[in-house]
Amino acid sequence: MKPPLFDYLAPVSVEEAIAARARYQSSALLAGGQSLIPALNFRISHPEAVIDLKGIESLRGVELQGSEIVIGAMARHREVELDEAIFKANPLIRETLGHVAHIVIRNRGTVVGSLAHGDAAAEMPALFLATGGSVTARGPGGSREIAAGELYRFHLTTSLEPDELVTEARIPALPARTGWSFQEFARRRGDYALAGVCALITLEASGACQGARLSACGIASTPVRLVKAEEVLTGTSLETETVNEAGRAACAHVTAPDDNQTTSAFRKQLVQTLVTRTITRALARARARL
Ligand SMILES: Cc1cc2nc3c(=O)[nH]c(=O)nc-3n(C[C@H](O)[C@H](O)[C@H](O)COP(=O)(O)OP(=O)(O)OC[C@H]3O[C@@H](n4cnc5c(N)ncnc54)[C@H](O)[C@@H]3O)c2cc1C
Repeated sequence: MKPPLFDYLAPVSVEEAIAARARYQSSALLAGGQSLIPALNFRISHPEAVIDLKGIESLRGVELQGSEIVIGAMARHREVELDEAIFKANPLIRETLGHVAHIVIRNRGTVVGSLAHGDAAAEMPALFLATGGSVTARGPGGSREIAAGELYRFHLTTSLEPDELVTEARIPALPARTGWSFQEFARRRGDYALAGVCALITLEASGACQGARLSACGIASTPVRLVKAEEVLTGTSLETETVNEAGRAACAHVTAPDDNQTTSAFRKQLVQTLVTRTITRALARARARL
């Protein structure tokens, strides 16, 4: 199919892009186009204008600033995945990006585009929640920070205003004594997963669990923090039975109904398994960093 008619604009500054948005009733931002172009071609999306961000120099690049990774709106998935300094600062990012689609799509798609698009089955919004990141949104009224926990409202629906543009995302570096893991189950490699789980386990110097941050994609109308599982783990010495109990507790967060992919019951089983596997992997990595 072909997309509907739209005006095409190619601003060279954030200010120009924001001014362009304000001129239209509806507009879409073109980052990597890996979600927007299919949505246009399927006529799911029909904005009056498409505003291409690729000519805006200030939106490019990814860098470590102190204890935060700052990802520009036009930094491609693959660029972030392959950056060695970013890998050292937070290896969970590379591990998670390896599950996003295929390399050709990651060559074009952007991390910020994925966060702003807000697909409930997408991996990076789940990582964003688990790590406690934030985005900077700019609009005609100025700039504001939106914490990951405040961004997602519903499938493909965020708290961003229609006239706002995300200029960058911030993801904290991995804290000390912390292990990480992202695992998912998809029918074919590169597909959106039926469920995916992200785990960060931080240990006390004694080896007890100081804190756990767990999140999932594909199991509800937004990415979700698995707080019931986190509560089971915190303050314990992470015995196998505790880890298994966390897996069972996480099932309460599965609210996706049966659909043409699978059943809700199977998603619960998947989440239970993925939670126990990711905690086990993260725990081994945390212990190696003590
Ligand atoms: C075959 C295929 C398989 C895929 N599989 C997966 C997968 O397994 N997991 C996964 O997570 N993704 C998958 N994707 C999607 C891919 O990761 C996209 O790159 C990503 O979702 C969106 O990034 P983008 O840069 O392409 O955004 P675009 O498609 O350019 O934009 C997507 C949406 O975000 C908005 N947007 C973009 N940038 C900004 C910004 N700076 N501020 C505000 N709004 C903005 C746009 O207006 C648009 O509505 C797949 C895509 C394809 C084509």
